[in-house]
Amino acid sequence: MNPQHEGCCAGAADASRRALLTSSLGMAAFAAVGGASWLLPGLAQAAALTREQRDAMTPDQVIAMLREGNERFRAGKMQGHDYLAQKKASAGGQYPAAVILGCIDSRAPTEIILDTGIGETFTGRVAGNIANDDLLGSLEFACAIAGSKLVLVMGHTACGAIKGAIDGAKLGNLTGLLEKIWPAVDATTFNGERSSKNDAFVDAVAATNVRRTVDEIRRRSDVLAGLEKDGKIKIVGSMYHLVGGKVEFYT
Ligand SMILES: [Zn+2]
Repeated sequence: MNPQHEGCCAGAADASRRALLTSSLGMAAFAAVGGASWLLPGLAQAAALTREQRDAMTPDQVIAMLREGNERFRAGKMQGHDYLAQKKASAGGQYPAAVILGCIDSRAPTEIILDTGIGETFTGRVAGNIANDDLLGSLEFACAIAGSKLVLVMGHTACGAIKGAIDGAKLGNLTGLLEKIWPAVDATTFNGERSSKNDAFVDAVAATNVRRTVDEIRRRSDVLAGLEKDGKIKIVGSMYHLVGGKVEFYT
């Protein structure tokens, strides 16, 4: 698999990307308010991340970029996405800076809450943001083959999958999925009612589940653990708070 679709037109695609006067990462907006434009000089001229821009970023800079995006989202000052320009600029190749493993919850759409555009992040979503073999393979593809610098596991508050795991819910194929969350329920130390009706306990289990997923990625993926050990990527957990909209990074 070749995510970059390198070929005779790759250079032309890069050139056209640079020429488009849109700000896929909102760097123009950053500059206007004294934000993080120092991270990626020239990005304001790009419609989607170029390989050069993405490759120049460190994992910590990718985290900073996503933090800034979430702050824009929370402030209601999201960048004006020109999706058609982003689509056009990224059609010939993609250079996403991060891969996000999130929950399917309709209230936690990663691109919106991090204010990213087309071609900027890979996203894998599964109830309860757990890591199974296929998701691990997807994360490995994103980082080892496509060059992403960050694996971000994102849980969220009031997660129905976490509640189902606490309750021991059983339903078709969902049963096996929820069983993968049971160890997080057991591993959560909590003073108070250990019930799905207790929001604080549900959120405590969700936090444990994120940390366990991060650990599991490192333990079960030699590819990703090796990239992290070499400083090429970071594997980081996070929690999206439905109330307030903040993405809390576990760094
Ligand atoms: Zn959820």
